Amino acid sequence: MGRNYSDLLEKSLDGSRLELLHLLAYQASLLRMPLYLVGGVVRDILLGRPVKDFDLVVEGDSAAFAEYIVEKFGGRVLIHSKFRTATWVLNETTFKRLDIPSFQLLDTPLSFDLISARTETYTQPGALPTVKRSTIADDLRRRDFTINAMAFRLDGEHFGEIFDPLDGQKDLENRLIRVLQERSFVDDPTRMFRAIRYAVRYGFEIAPETLSLINEEARGVLSQLSGERLRHEFDLMFEEEKTSVMLESVKELDLLNSIHPALLIADSQQLTAFVDKPEQKFGEFIVPDILSFKQTLGWVLYLLNVSGDGIEDIAKQLAFPTLLTKAARGAAVLNKDFAAFKDWKPSQWTFYLDEIPALAVFAVYLVQKEQALRDYLTTWRNVKPFATGYTLQQRGLEPGPKFGEILHRLRAAWLDGDVKSEEEEKLLLDRLVK
Ligand code: ATP
Repeated sequence: MGRNYSDLLEKSLDGSRLELLHLLAYQASLLRMPLYLVGGVVRDILLGRPVKDFDLVVEGDSAAFAEYIVEKFGGRVLIHSKFRTATWVLNETTFKRLDIPSFQLLDTPLSFDLISARTETYTQPGALPTVKRSTIADDLRRRDFTINAMAFRLDGEHFGEIFDPLDGQKDLENRLIRVLQERSFVDDPTRMFRAIRYAVRYGFEIAPETLSLINEEARGVLSQLSGERLRHEFDLMFEEEKTSVMLESVKELDLLNSIHPALLIADSQQLTAFVDKPEQKFGEFIVPDILSFKQTLGWVLYLLNVSGDGIEDIAKQLAFPTLLTKAARGAAVLNKDFAAFKDWKPSQWTFYLDEIPALAVFAVYLVQKEQALRDYLTTWRNVKPFATGYTLQQRGLEPGPKFGEILHRLRAAWLDGDVKSEEEEKLLLDRLVK
């Protein structure tokens, strides 16, 4: 039996979450089903860091457990795969039965994942593993690093007992990221990125034995992964605070070449433009939220110095969504060419920038601090003449290419300050119609 951390657990989890956890723990003990809090949450509680979401593992049939909970407390149960991973979705009935006041609902999770302890075996490097239900000890052994392979037992009198068969606490104390077995990176090369992410996030070192396993064989398996899986690892880094340091480390450990050589030109330093204090810089611009904002902006900045062809290659290799490819390309071209546009009039800037996603313009602004880009984002792109196609029709013009040309001229006049009122616009329109 490991040390008991119930006090720390109580302190680290907030009101209604803790209450629900106690409830699950009590029910599990009635069923004599060992229930554990596992993975990242245990690590973060021991480190005294804020807890986001958490994973619960039962030794036994998690779906049967979830169904039992629903019978008693309402809600719904969703059973996922053939391994009977279950989600308990709470609803109004649940909250009433548990007597949780409505003001607490906001910080209450609306669902809990309940997972059966399982083993995983890798039949082929880089492929997804074969899974079988098993014990908590096996479940911890299938994990990536010792610091992610600890569990707090929750059921009954065991509440708060740590289960740490792989010495995660020791590595946590010594600030080390260590894999659980020699083939770890070959089985799943995404773990090389995960190692870097945790090391940089917590200011830990990758243990020397683990570092030596980031070798040619493991790197070689990277190219067998799907584009989505690889891209996801970068996306996770773009969500972090020290992204540029992580990407530097990815480069130093030579992980980029196996994905695509064009990535070697990518420049993580561009990311410091927004990683530092993103919220301060985004407030004044309204940039459409294409895909997930931070990830997209991360990619666009990272690839700013890569050539158009290079970006196309990377996009193919990492299965970029079309919008992302367009934004990355638009930004790279603008970043390369914009010095030549210095003397342009606002209308020239605007008609050029209208063809590029706003987020790409924003990215280049973050790096270059060019005033015209800022004016475009905050003002110019929204400038429109009063006249519309309908106005022109009323003036007796036939719809056709002339329409676009006239409206274009009117907008340019507003942008360049040649027209400053509706009256002046009308006078200009009179001239253009003639
Ligand atoms: P984060 O704070 O980054 O979300 P986390 O530990 O919660 O960290 P998840 O990606 O949510 O990370 O994974 C939950 C747990 O599942 C991990 O703590 C780890 O035990 C295990 N895990 C996740 N990915 C892998 C992997 N590729 N190989 C082995 N175990 C993994």
